[in-house]
Amino acid sequence: MTFPLSHGSPGNDQTVLEPGVHYVCQRCNACCKWPGDVRVSEGEIAAIADFLEMPEGDFISGFTRLRTNRTGLSLLEKDNHECIMLENGGCRIHPVKPSQCAGFPNKWNFPGWRDICEAIPVPVPPKT
Ligand code: SF4
Ligand code: SF4
Repeated sequence: MTFPLSHGSPGNDQTVLEPGVHYVCQRCNACCKWPGDVRVSEGEIAAIADFLEMPEGDFISGFTRLRTNRTGLSLLEKDNHECIMLENGGCRIHPVKPSQCAGFPNKWNFPGWRDICEAIPVPVPPKT
């Protein structure tokens, strides 16, 4: 499968959300293999470094780069464009993964996302 260079990121203006539906991730890892930034905030960097039991400076120098727009840091990607944290079919930092990862596809997405994401829609019960 050929992917475009980037699928955007949280806050993009092409996100379409569906009220009353929640998509349950099937851990297919496709979204960990797309080219593009995986944004990490300062707070996320601290949490990830702590989870990996390494100094923040070592984590930043070993696992991050400047975002494409140079406004912050992104996780590195491998030569094949997979995220540096994708290991043995899973996310090495799953409990503390960035909000960009945790938010897809329920908080942000892009046109055509359902063609390449295996998440299953389930109805959200109305609040009582
Ligand atoms: S969000 Fe979608 S693409 Fe990403 S791992 Fe889950 S099912 Fe796969
Ligand atoms: S941090 Fe984890 S969930 Fe996010 S893209 Fe990388 S491997 Fe996937």
